[in-house]
Amino acid sequence: MRTLLITGNWKMNKTASEAEPFVRRLVELVPKADPVEVVLAPPFTAIQAASQGLPASRPFGLAGQDLFWEHQGPFTGEVSASMLKDLGCSYVILGHSERRQHFGEQDEDVNRKVRAALRSGLRPILCLGETLEQHDTAHGQDAVTQQLMRGLEGLSQEDVGNVTVAYEPRWAIGTGQPATVDQAETIHELLRQLLVKNWGAEAVQQVRLLYGGSVTPGNTKELLSSSIIDGALVGGACLDAAVFASIIQIARDLASA
Ligand code: PEP
Repeated sequence: MRTLLITGNWKMNKTASEAEPFVRRLVELVPKADPVEVVLAPPFTAIQAASQGLPASRPFGLAGQDLFWEHQGPFTGEVSASMLKDLGCSYVILGHSERRQHFGEQDEDVNRKVRAALRSGLRPILCLGETLEQHDTAHGQDAVTQQLMRGLEGLSQEDVGNVTVAYEPRWAIGTGQPATVDQAETIHELLRQLLVKNWGAEAVQQVRLLYGGSVTPGNTKELLSSSIIDGALVGGACLDAAVFASIIQIARDLASA
């Protein structure tokens, strides 16, 4: 049994001054995440403020939204895994479709980032998903297979065990048109089979497969009721504390049932 993981990707939203009261409000609404795991991914500039909004019991974890694979040095504008760790992050989102689409990130870059995260003890959330065109031309499965295999290339069994994979069809991100449970399950089954085939059932037992793309309180229950969807990566709906709290609450209810 894998613990459900709900991750809120703030993207480029909320300043540091907005982050702390937002997190305090979220904690008021959901004082503890148990029995699910909740992770917040603020922009780099707001991670510390978000952390200050958390009580000492730390009901929610923190994630970066990206990193650069070098440890330090002349890489203007970049942030390393150790910098994220130092701010209290335990996870990092990597290979998000917006990074692939707007910043030209390739699977090889994502793989270097995944390795850098693992070297520093950060747990990568590897995002992958097909474009609308790939979806419409029945190339979606090939696309996600390539993204998974290249993104995790060269990883040991132990390292793979620390990875989370988020299936986020690009056509569902920010569009208000989520994948159906059937569509998500088909890809999740494929991803799980690939993980088992390449790294072994035992090594990937605890690897969680999240769904992301227009998750809202209205579709959370249906999506998370699937035994092969281990959580959600939430974008737009995580920016409102009450809305995100209700997603977390639905996940908690399902996990305690
Ligand atoms: C995302 O950006 O990871 C995402 C899933 O966005 P949204 O929930 O807004 O579709």
